[in-house]
Amino acid sequence: MTELNQKSELNIDKLTSDFPLLKQLIALEEVNWFNPNITTLEQGLPYVGMGDKDIHDASLRLKRFAPYLAKAFPETQVANGIIESELIDIPLMKSVLEDHYQLPIKGRLMMKKDSHLPISGSIKARGGIYEVLTHAEKLAIEAGLLSESDDYSKLLEPEFRDFFKQYSIAVGSTGNLGMSIGIMSAKLGFTVSVHMSADARAWKKNKLREHGVNVVEYEQDYGVAVEQGRKEAEQDPRCFFIDDENSQTLFLGYSVAGERLKQQFEQQQVVVDKEHPLFVYLPCGVGGGPGGVAFGLKMAFGDDVHCIFAEPTHSPCMLLGVHTGLHDEISVQDLGIDNLTAADGLAVGRASGFVGRAMERLLDGYYTLTDERMYQLLSELDQAEGIQLEPSALAGMPGAIHVEHNSEYLERLGIAESTLASATHLVWATGGGMVPEQEMAEYLAKSSL
Ligand SMILES: *Cc1c(COP(=O)(O)O)cnc(C)c1O
Repeated sequence: MTELNQKSELNIDKLTSDFPLLKQLIALEEVNWFNPNITTLEQGLPYVGMGDKDIHDASLRLKRFAPYLAKAFPETQVANGIIESELIDIPLMKSVLEDHYQLPIKGRLMMKKDSHLPISGSIKARGGIYEVLTHAEKLAIEAGLLSESDDYSKLLEPEFRDFFKQYSIAVGSTGNLGMSIGIMSAKLGFTVSVHMSADARAWKKNKLREHGVNVVEYEQDYGVAVEQGRKEAEQDPRCFFIDDENSQTLFLGYSVAGERLKQQFEQQQVVVDKEHPLFVYLPCGVGGGPGGVAFGLKMAFGDDVHCIFAEPTHSPCMLLGVHTGLHDEISVQDLGIDNLTAADGLAVGRASGFVGRAMERLLDGYYTLTDERMYQLLSELDQAEGIQLEPSALAGMPGAIHVEHNSEYLERLGIAESTLASATHLVWATGGGMVPEQEMAEYLAKSSL
């Protein structure tokens, strides 16, 4: 037997006895796991292989493109072409959560509204758009058409559209990544194909087609859509494949959120330090989005920020990969879990090995929640705060309950009960801003069933 074969042969009985938590995962129970092997930023950073300079470069690139974005997408004009979301308090939702779980929450509850990011209405407006811009800049500079000191709004000129038309971009997606990459690529003039998994919503496919994107549909899940996209791109040297599972560029696009959030906290006079810890709850699919944001947060706030990933009970791929140490060598399907969830963007059976290996020491914990709970929270948030999100974006909502009521974890971190009163819990709301009214009505109707 070759080494490769040995690797791919999993002994599930042995795994479940070595890792009893897997039995609960298989039973689709809501679980949490706070990783006892986390380290300080200093110890964990070398494994990421990226640092401040990389984030800074990404930030500067986004600034170079800001004049272009402000003109190409008028909704970004108010922020001068910087794609950023609001940070808000959700005190009414906090009371609803306390009722929902019959448990108190001592800290402050806030929300980061990536759901309402311009251009594509989800967290993917960070990484996806950034990677397309990076690629476009590289091509244009290499062709001698652009230099970094130019006013990038010249990219709106027909000459550039004709130039980019010779190149194509491909991506596999459950929906939102396709939206951000499709819309951005088409706007620049690229020929773009989005390979959509079966769970992708019809309205997202329609919207992309309206933008002139070639949408390829699959009857299988995300993994298959990605593989097909990759294969197609390999046959065409002018086609650039955006690899959601392995891309450092995407990851860095997300990471810029850290310094931006730090500024927002300063403006709103929210203190983050050892006595005022920050807990951030990030919905996780393949891992690039939450992983990149978590990296940026760690670089901005150091050991005072604690990042926790949230996944559907039917798609707990990152928890599975990190908990077993097998990363992308195991999928939820290997355990007989079906990877069927209404949470767009989170229906991923196999996590990014790159993100898991890079970030596992810097991520405090993981939990799962059912689709039913996401729907219920969706309706509760709508009623309490008048904010509408898509189901996946609610995954971070129960995080504060998991943290504040886990004495083992808090003791291990040395966070006293009294410190919790000065903690901030931040729910990263990852999508929903562009959901059509009719779809939203259906989401809301579902939660009252
Ligand atoms: C993509 C997505 C996520 C998770 O991002 P990954 O990079 O896949 O982990 C979370 N929420 C929404 C709404 C998304 O579209």
